[in-house]
Amino acid sequence: MKIALIAHDGKKADLVSFVLQNLDLFEHSELYTTATTGRHMEQAGLTVNKVLSGPQGGDAQIAAMVATKQLDVVIFFRDPLDKHPHEPDVQMLMRICDVHNIPLATNLAAAKLILKGIKCHQK
Ligand code: PGA
Repeated sequence: MKIALIAHDGKKADLVSFVLQNLDLFEHSELYTTATTGRHMEQAGLTVNKVLSGPQGGDAQIAAMVATKQLDVVIFFRDPLDKHPHEPDVQMLMRICDVHNIPLATNLAAAKLILKGIKCHQK
């Protein structure tokens, strides 16, 4: 599985703890992250492939990977209570996931369901 992991600043701790709670799956996946999210993952002991930071174009890079079928799942913990200068890129990434029918979780509950689905599928 090739999985993109992204979190806005207010949600990075939530994403790290979600990943650590599901290490069995994430350890055996190829992980792609935006730069700052990736640094948090590395501090938690994970190996990740980092693209640029979200506001520097990282979300657009992840979208390009989705469009070229290089990713199976996108998990993007968005912070709906904060403003983001790169909101157009965020919207674009979500649209590209829809265009290419790539599963996208934008919150913890959706991410849990996607992981459940992957684990069932792998049995
Ligand atoms: P970051 O980018 O991981 O570099 O903070 C995430 C985002 O805000 O899109």
